[in-house]
Amino acid sequence: MRFFGFKCDLLAALGLGFLLLQAVVFEARAANPACQDDFTCPSSWVGLNKGDKDKVFKFSEDYKNFIHKARTELSFVTEAVKIARKAGFKPLTKTSPMTPGARYYDVNRARALSMIIIGAEDFSEGFHVVGSHIDSPRLELKGRPLYESGEFALFQTNYHGGIKSYQWTNIPLALMGRVDKKDGSIVEINVGLKPGDPVFMIADLSPHVDRGYRDRKVKDQIKYEDLDPVMGHIPDTAGNNIKQQVITYLKETYDVSPADLVSAELSLVPANAPRDVGFDRGLVAAYGQDDRLAAYAAFRAILGLKKTNKTVISHFVDNEEAGNRNNTGAKSDYFSDLLSRMIYAQKGDLYREPMLRAALAKTRMVSVDVNPGINPKNPGAWELDNAPKLGHGVNIKLYGKGNAGNSEFLAWIRKTLDDNDVPWQTSTYKVGRAGGGTIGGEYSRQNMDVVDYGVPLLSIHTPYSISSKVDIYTLYRALEAFYKE
Ligand code: MN
Ligand code: MN
Repeated sequence: MRFFGFKCDLLAALGLGFLLLQAVVFEARAANPACQDDFTCPSSWVGLNKGDKDKVFKFSEDYKNFIHKARTELSFVTEAVKIARKAGFKPLTKTSPMTPGARYYDVNRARALSMIIIGAEDFSEGFHVVGSHIDSPRLELKGRPLYESGEFALFQTNYHGGIKSYQWTNIPLALMGRVDKKDGSIVEINVGLKPGDPVFMIADLSPHVDRGYRDRKVKDQIKYEDLDPVMGHIPDTAGNNIKQQVITYLKETYDVSPADLVSAELSLVPANAPRDVGFDRGLVAAYGQDDRLAAYAAFRAILGLKKTNKTVISHFVDNEEAGNRNNTGAKSDYFSDLLSRMIYAQKGDLYREPMLRAALAKTRMVSVDVNPGINPKNPGAWELDNAPKLGHGVNIKLYGKGNAGNSEFLAWIRKTLDDNDVPWQTSTYKVGRAGGGTIGGEYSRQNMDVVDYGVPLLSIHTPYSISSKVDIYTLYRALEAFYKE
């Protein structure tokens, strides 16, 4: 080595210096940036290089395409399974080998989904789970929905999740879901998303004729009972019986009778396609970003993973907006049953229940759900020091009163985020002035460590909410890092 003398040493020193510089630059990005220590970080858009910005925009295009189709829990599961199968995920069966790197999915009654990658560690070391919900606030049909009034055919509806009733008038609605017939067949109905499809609409009073109603409170502007969309208008040849025309149409088009609608799950959801917002296209407006933004980030993160240390699961559930109910919601025992099936597949007849309990106790879960960000026109709805801002990354929810993760788990989460250069913030609602729930509590109850984080939205729980594209991509990176830990 001496042969090359001084020159070589200089080159080596320059080379080493360059490598060190590279390492320092990378470290500065990879380690906790100083601004994160005192909450002075600028918007995540600041300092994005061209390549990162391209990734952010590309990811949001994929996201918009996906959630345009996946507007209900049923359609989310259908669309996600199509993509998962192409990425090598196979149905989990009793004989599926639990070999590291194996990729499985399991569908719970068409309305909930788990995607699994088997890790290098034994299941007794616990799982890394991301949970999200794939239902969104919407209208659904009553069992006997069809009636006629004022020479229109209408559907009686109920609502799923917290909505402001007046926001659901005068917007195009799509009808999506399934009808289950007595012979066991399933009829899928999906009208209103394709260009050229008809849509349905709840008509509000015009300003010309509403003078007697203008003093109504917001919650009374239209009664929840009156959220009934127009489904038909053309009478029979004698000028009567518009309701019968709709019955005939459903029979001829879908072979569905009024009694079949008793065993149906049909939703009315906003039909508008996702769009960019702002000259700079930095924001996405879409229906159902609560919580399909987080669900999509979790889905993409697991889709792109190869081998992992922990066995990782992306768990998508139904009915969060209605209180985590039923056997497809987070209150169901389905999830612990899934883990027990996997441990049984690994251990065979050596399986004992304490193995499941021990694995649950060592399992870490990120419950990802969006929440309201600071609204530029109503900042007073927040206590601003503890409120989340669009474009500022992952939002750790510190709701207190026993609703947050334990502090040692929060410290572990902070480390994972900082080590992976994921910008984060926190939110605690204004005391006594706000609130909201999610699925996290249903899993912490089963003795897992659970943290809730997501990203903030504007106009959450309205027919068309707004997210920041950089946050969608940040959440994806956060979950990818968590799976890989
Ligand atoms: Mn919600
Ligand atoms: Mn939610």
